[in-house]
Amino acid sequence: AASARTPPPTDLSMESDALLDALRAAVGPAHVLTAADGADLVAYEQDWRRRHRGRARCVVRPANTAEVAAVVRLCAAHDVPIVPQGGNTGLVVGGVPNASGTQVVLSLQRLNRVRALDVDNLTLTVEAGCVLQAAQQAAQAAGLWLPLSLASEGSCTIGGNLATNAGGTQVLRFGNARDLCLGLEVVTADAQIWDGLSALRKDNTGYDLRHLFIGSEGTLGIITAAVLKLFPQPAARLTAWASVPSLAAAVALLGLAQQALGPALTGFEAMNAFAMQLVARHFPALRPPLPDAAPYAVLLEVSDSESEAHARERLHATLADAIARGSVLDAVVAQSLAQAQALWHIRESIPLAQAQEGLNIKHDISVPVSRIPAFCAEAEALLQQAVPGARLVNFGHLGDGNLHFNVQCPPGADPAAFLAAHEAAINTLVFDTVRRYGGSISAEHGIGGLKADLLPRYKDAVALDLMRRLKQALDPRGLLNPGRVLTAGG
Ligand code: FAD
Repeated sequence: AASARTPPPTDLSMESDALLDALRAAVGPAHVLTAADGADLVAYEQDWRRRHRGRARCVVRPANTAEVAAVVRLCAAHDVPIVPQGGNTGLVVGGVPNASGTQVVLSLQRLNRVRALDVDNLTLTVEAGCVLQAAQQAAQAAGLWLPLSLASEGSCTIGGNLATNAGGTQVLRFGNARDLCLGLEVVTADAQIWDGLSALRKDNTGYDLRHLFIGSEGTLGIITAAVLKLFPQPAARLTAWASVPSLAAAVALLGLAQQALGPALTGFEAMNAFAMQLVARHFPALRPPLPDAAPYAVLLEVSDSESEAHARERLHATLADAIARGSVLDAVVAQSLAQAQALWHIRESIPLAQAQEGLNIKHDISVPVSRIPAFCAEAEALLQQAVPGARLVNFGHLGDGNLHFNVQCPPGADPAAFLAAHEAAINTLVFDTVRRYGGSISAEHGIGGLKADLLPRYKDAVALDLMRRLKQALDPRGLLNPGRVLTAGG
């Protein structure tokens, strides 16, 4: 359950703590932070949405893989659980400690080096704490492209991206973080270092272990470095904004654009009118380029290997065809990089605008693209029956069948009271509908601590059993991020 309470302070300085002394010896005293020493731990103990504040026994900031292994060894020797943490931008309470005061937060932020960039092999080897934007910039400096892009890219880390198998805006063409990763270096629960930093695109020598750790949310091992795929920079990237009369029309536009543009279509995002209104209310400088009276707007991105003129011609032709068919009401194509960035800024500001509006209920769901219109119609009708006036902020990576089907309280209602009264029922209503439509209750944010209780209701029982067996095999003492993804009993 959600808790915004600040836990009571504990005077750890009174404790004779052999673990703390050993950790200080391993990583240097300046890199073991405790509340008792006066360190402000809020950035490590509180989740991005500020709905959960835990309490860490300490925060440890190792500088390299050997130090990470030393921290894991020491924590295991003292039977102390570890919560790995990158940029702490996760949205499912996976990277912050619980309220017990017993867990060690292992921050990877100091492992932030770019280890290698191989232009001919099109690969980048980076440490886990490298901020995504820094990794993108390293690729760009070599004239290459790392096509992983999320609104949190200025803070989230490569380790966190892989641990959550992050999605973002380029999944349509390049896949999730998993699809961009060729190799991993991992510290295991028994403090071994697995050097799996393969830069190979073909390697069928047994089980592909990297895929176990990708998306495991810190519960199976600690990612310390990765080899990522790079791509040539496109000759031109163009962004268009289209008003559409309905979600069904947005899906029709997606089909049309895929057919006409093929792999050049690299992004396809949708947002409902209320999402745009929230952005305009809280960030008045961010105005949609077309009147937001249409029920939905779509953002299309085209990455063309030939030229800007070629891209523009194809994009204009596609949009004109869509207007003729009635899938698009009106459209504009950005004329400059600054205009394109301004359009993306509107889309990427929706989560912040929601936060400014007040506490809300987030659902990061996916259903097959073809079923999105029917799913949304049914779920919205059920929502209005359950809580008349509840406001739907529906937006996301429509091209991947992934929507953030979020709910704000009715106008004038108290957001906290709304959540207390309705959150559980609305979650059940939305997730049960997702299940009926063959979807997933977590498309890209993961399970963390927020949805671990829900997993047994929505995950296939055999899959869940296999997951538990993997956890038992790789972390038999349950010291890595306990209670996340899998609950003790569930
Ligand atoms: P953290 O939040 O620190 O950790 C996330 C999880 O990974 C935790 O369970 C943690 O224990 C584990 N972990 C972190 N580092 C490691 C490691 N090195 N080894 C093992 N486990 C580790 N997500 C998307 O997928 N797509 C989006 O489009 C998207 N947009 C976002 C927009 C905003 C404004 C915000 C705030 C978040 C968004 N997110 C999105 C969610 C979040 O940014 C991603 O989940 C991101 O990948 C988390 O990276 P991080 O470094 O912040 O990880």
